[in-house]
Amino acid sequence: MSPPALHEATRVLVVEDDDTIGRHLDAGLRGHGYGTTWCRTGRSALAEIRTRVYSIVLLDLGLPDTDGVDIARTLRADFPDTLIVILTARGDEIDVIAGLDAGADDYLVKPFTLSVLLARLRAHLRRRPPASGRSEPPIRLGDLTVDTTARRCLLAGRDITLRPKEFELLAVLARHAGAAVSRETLMAQVWDENWFGPTKTLDVTLASLRRRLHQAAADTPGTTHLPAITTLRGHGYRLERPEPGSGAGQGAGG
Ligand code: CA
Repeated sequence: MSPPALHEATRVLVVEDDDTIGRHLDAGLRGHGYGTTWCRTGRSALAEIRTRVYSIVLLDLGLPDTDGVDIARTLRADFPDTLIVILTARGDEIDVIAGLDAGADDYLVKPFTLSVLLARLRAHLRRRPPASGRSEPPIRLGDLTVDTTARRCLLAGRDITLRPKEFELLAVLARHAGAAVSRETLMAQVWDENWFGPTKTLDVTLASLRRRLHQAAADTPGTTHLPAITTLRGHGYRLERPEPGSGAGQGAGG
């Protein structure tokens, strides 16, 4: 059968220690045009996912060597764009909750049919931009580089550690550098919600982002230009574009 174009380049990592289920998933997904790799342990899955790009991980929670919830947490931290679907035995509601809290996107209770799994994957993939759309070149602003594809923030070539929301906030502002970005846009893009109430969490995260950038600039002797984040009262924020040939001493205050 010819695979539908939707998931032509979609690779699935199957993490399942049960031979029957693993073989069924591996063969079934291949038969529908997905590329698959089947790992029987958490350790081998974590090693495998660092060797090539996977769009989807099907993760059994009951693994022989590691807790599936821990694997979910590690995957979510290191591969934020990967869809994680946990596979769990009937009645293990606590495991499902822990798995979702650890960062999984969805779950399926065994036994499930291949057609239900395929339908769930199609639904998730429809809502996601294609892989090529998620890859963008690093944004350079003065000494600051925001690399959303690698999920790195660098100042004068040195990595700055940011919390996930701080990074996402910086990424949205960097994509619109020089332009005002409204609070509503930031709430929608960073917190993924239409927010009409108080947005204190935005200000708290932004203050923390500024602090980290300032601290990194102070700790990085080669820094001459850290772009400022300007507060636009009653509207939102703007990450300033550096002027050509701008001098030292500017900060992320405002
Ligand atoms: Ca198992």
